[in-house]
Amino acid sequence: MFSEHMRMVLSMALSTVSVVCIVAAGIIALRKNRSENLFALLGLIFGPLGVLAAVLVSPGVPKGMQAVSCPRCNAKQNIPAGQTTFECCQCKHVAHDEGDT
Ligand SMILES: [Zn+2]
Repeated sequence: MFSEHMRMVLSMALSTVSVVCIVAAGIIALRKNRSENLFALLGLIFGPLGVLAAVLVSPGVPKGMQAVSCPRCNAKQNIPAGQTTFECCQCKHVAHDEGDT
């Protein structure tokens, strides 16, 4: 079995890894407009897998914004919620948003 010293080193290493995972998952989630608390929790429970989940999740839409895609070039972008026209950030095409068409 592990000696007392080994067990201490091991638990220290494990807690360091989980703190890193919690912080990393939280930061990644925040940058993607996802709940940082949720992904920090996933980092706590699943460790590196929680970080991986934050990396793989598709970016969310910020509060008060809506996701639209340009009818000309299909670029996805976020515009203020309720706004019906927007200028594409990629091709500068002015689009009239008609929902999910
Ligand atoms: Zn466009």
